[in-house]
Amino acid sequence: MDAEHANPTRRPVAVALGATVTASGATALPATGAPAPATAPGATAVASTGAPQSGGLLDRFGRVATDLRVSVIDKCNLRCTYCMPADGMPWLPQTQLMSTDEIRRIVRVAVQSLGAEELRITGGEPLVRKDLEFIIAGIREDNPDLPISMTTNAVGLDRRAQALKDAGLTRLNVSLDTLHPETFAELTRRPHLDKVLAGLQAARAAGLGPIKINAVLLRGINDTEIVSLVDWAVTNGFEMRFIEDMPLDGDRSWTATNVIAARDIRSEIETAFSLTPDPRGRGAAPAERWEVRRPGETAVAGHIGIISSVTEPFCAACTRTRVTADGKVRSCLFSHEETDLLSTLRAGADDEGLAQVWRDAMWAKPRAHGSDRVGLARADFVQPERTMSAIGG
Ligand code: SAM
Ligand code: SF4
Repeated sequence: MDAEHANPTRRPVAVALGATVTASGATALPATGAPAPATAPGATAVASTGAPQSGGLLDRFGRVATDLRVSVIDKCNLRCTYCMPADGMPWLPQTQLMSTDEIRRIVRVAVQSLGAEELRITGGEPLVRKDLEFIIAGIREDNPDLPISMTTNAVGLDRRAQALKDAGLTRLNVSLDTLHPETFAELTRRPHLDKVLAGLQAARAAGLGPIKINAVLLRGINDTEIVSLVDWAVTNGFEMRFIEDMPLDGDRSWTATNVIAARDIRSEIETAFSLTPDPRGRGAAPAERWEVRRPGETAVAGHIGIISSVTEPFCAACTRTRVTADGKVRSCLFSHEETDLLSTLRAGADDEGLAQVWRDAMWAKPRAHGSDRVGLARADFVQPERTMSAIGG
């Protein structure tokens, strides 16, 4: 961890993550919670001493990472309470940020040497980068068939949606936790709900789609809006996705008791709609997807997804690999280890050299929630030093 992100207030955060600790201390894992060390497709090609020397991003538990998330900047124009502190966030210096060409090269290696199948651009807030259209155009030129999506708060998207679409962006996830201006201002510490709504309108007009709406639910703040958010999303043709609040906030004030659990979100939605599991299934996607029907209707009105990282974890099926805005590979959102891909690139490594550094990093991917320890209900869970905005969600 570099000094830029060392947080002087860091302290271990003891939480119970999604599993039941028995009296003996043994832990009953949710069925999908953690992978067993097992053979998997490609595992026979692995040397007993370490990572494979060719092929994709295989880890010690047989998972293969094909879903690439690249953060292009750590800065943001909002200050969501579950993500960033109100102030005092240390920014990466410009020289440590990946340049347009460096991002392009890293994505090319991931796709063409390591088998990445999809890319999500994230941050911080990707729209804060003025060269975002150039980044996407370069990636698109190298990888004509790659699905490229972006997670954004949509502030300023109204002026850039068409250019981003023209550059090659395919899909969009927009973070929007509330439809009330006052709650928005409280939650994001900025009065910009109207800008987000204008961004969404422009994205739809530009033909970016599908558009998913991400909402993190906070007890006592926006948890009364579950049904109205679903209604609004379904009416407007968006897929609503609820994300359980994770211990990755800048204020270090997360508590397990404040998490609105996936099962409670489902129950609340079912007071107004009927939910049926999406027949397309979930695959390795983080969201469990449901078809939404209005009362008394047989036609599907829309879809929702629930990302239950805390109470119903899905680490066993994880296919994600992340690169931070300063070019560090993180094999897990909750990792305490990072691998400096950008320095390797700047030192002159060729594509195969970069690919091998990445394979080695992913081979060491922890089993679940940043650790190899069996059981996710570890009382000694320690929140990573980087917050969500500095990792790239
Ligand atoms: N700024 C962009 C945005 O907000 O969409 C992209 C970066 S943001 C870090 C990516 C996603 O992470 C957002 O959907 C946000 O809601 C989510 N997020 C941030 N902090 C979180 C937390 N503590 N728990 C769960 N999700 C979180
Ligand atoms: Fe910014 Fe996104 Fe974090 Fe909100 S969730 S503070 S918009 S990076």
